Amino acid sequence: MKSRFAPSPTGYLHIGGARTALFAWLWAKKNNSKFVLRIEDTDKERSTQVSVDAILEGMDWLGLDYDEGPIYQSDRTNRYNEVISELLSNGKAYYCDCSIERLDSMREGQITKKEKPKYDGCCRNKGLKNGVIRFLNPVDGVVNFSDYVKGEISISNSELDDLIISRSDGSPTYNLTVVVDDHDMEIECVIRGDDHINNTPKQINLYEAMDWPIPKFAHVPMILGSDGSRLSKRHGALNLLSYRDQGLLPHALLNYIVRLGWSNGDQEIFSVDEMIKLFELSGINNSPASFNQEKLEWINQSHIKTTEVKELVSNLKWHLDQLSIEIDNGPNINEVVDALRDRSKSLVDMAQSCIMFYKDFNEFDSAQASKVFNSESKLVLVELITKLNDIDSWTAENIHSIIKSICETNGIGFGKVGQPFRLAISGDGKAGSVHISAQLVGKTRTLSRIKMAVDYIDTINS
Ligand code: GLU
Repeated sequence: MKSRFAPSPTGYLHIGGARTALFAWLWAKKNNSKFVLRIEDTDKERSTQVSVDAILEGMDWLGLDYDEGPIYQSDRTNRYNEVISELLSNGKAYYCDCSIERLDSMREGQITKKEKPKYDGCCRNKGLKNGVIRFLNPVDGVVNFSDYVKGEISISNSELDDLIISRSDGSPTYNLTVVVDDHDMEIECVIRGDDHINNTPKQINLYEAMDWPIPKFAHVPMILGSDGSRLSKRHGALNLLSYRDQGLLPHALLNYIVRLGWSNGDQEIFSVDEMIKLFELSGINNSPASFNQEKLEWINQSHIKTTEVKELVSNLKWHLDQLSIEIDNGPNINEVVDALRDRSKSLVDMAQSCIMFYKDFNEFDSAQASKVFNSESKLVLVELITKLNDIDSWTAENIHSIIKSICETNGIGFGKVGQPFRLAISGDGKAGSVHISAQLVGKTRTLSRIKMAVDYIDTINS
C-alpha cells in the first residue's frame, strides 16, 4: 500500500500543494504504508531545477519524509513508450494527424451548437503511422467511481474525449504518465487537488484498457483566500518556504494546513503524532477552506509555547544564522529559548530577542534612552553595579533580591529600577523579565553594560 505526492516542478511548492502532500503523507503513516514523492517533470518547457529544489527543500522543512523518491518522470520515458506501444498494438490507441486548423474549426462548430467540445474520432479507423497518439476512449457506458471526499461520481463516456497520450514530438502526456506511474508504483490511494477531478474518469478508462487495478481516489478541495476568492499573493505568501522565513514552526504550519479542510471535532491544536493517529480521509470537508493568516500566527504561537526546547532550538538555528548570531558567544541557547518562548510571536521574533544575549552593542535606543536614562536612574544604576558585583552566585533569584532591596532602601517602585536596568542590558528595553535576562546575559556583560549606561548618562548630562 502506498500513497504519493506528485508535484509538477513549474513553480515553488505552495501552501495548497503542501496540504495535499500532508494529507497523502498522513494517510501513508496512518496506514503503515509507504509515501512516494514523484516529480512530474514531463513538461520540459515549464519544469525547472529551481522549482525541483524548492519542492525538495519545502518537503524537508516540513518533515514530510518519503520512503521512495524523488522519482523523476523524465527518467521513465521508455516505460511510457512501452505502454503506449501496447495500447497501439491492442487497438486501444491510434495515430491522429488532424491539423490544428481542422481541430479549431471543429471546436468552434461544437461551441456554436452548444455541444461539449471534443475530438470527433476522425482518425480512429485510418490506420495512420504517425502524428499524435490518441487513446481510444470507450464510446458507450459510464465511468463510476467513489471518491473519499466527493462521494459517488458518474460520467458518461459520451462526454469524454479521445485524449492525446503522446504529442507529435513523441512526449507522453500527463494522463498517460500518471496512470502508468500510479500503477507501477503500486499506489493504493491517489490523493490530489480537486482541479484534477475531471481527469479521473479518463484515467480510469486507461487503467481498464491496460487491465490494471484502479486505485482509490480522494480529491481535496482548494484553499481560498480570506475573502473567498482563489488564494493568491494578495492573501499572503503562497510560497511555502516564505512561511519558514516568517518564523513559523514547520509543525505549526502542518497543524494549520491540516485544519484547513479537515477536522476532528473542535480540536485546533494537534501534534504531528496526533494528526497521524486521528487522520481519516472521510474527515476531509467537501468544500473549499479559507486561508486565515491570524489563525496561522495564533497556532504558531501556541506551538512555540509547548514545543520541546530541543526542537525549538533546531528550528531557531536557521533564523539565528540569518542574523549572524553565534550561540557559542553567550549563554546556553536552551535556557534562552525557554526564557523567551512565552513572549515570542514567531521564531523571527525569538531570534531577534536573542541578539542581546550573544552580541554586544555600542548604542542605546535613543527614544528609550531619553525617556528612561536621567540623573535619577543613574543613581539606581550605580547602586546596581555595586550590589550586583557582590553577588557570588549569579542566579535570577539573587538578582531579583538586589532589585527588591534597592526599591526598598530608596522607597521607589519596581519600574524605577527595572526600566533602566532592562534598557541598560538590552540596548532597546525589550528584555522580558529583567532578572532572568540579566542572569542569562551573565555577570561580566551585565556589569559592563550598566557601566556603559552610566557613561552614556554622564555624556548627555555634561
Ligand atoms: N502533477 C500534478 C500537479 O502538480 C498532480 C498530478 C496528480 O496528483 O495526479 O498538479
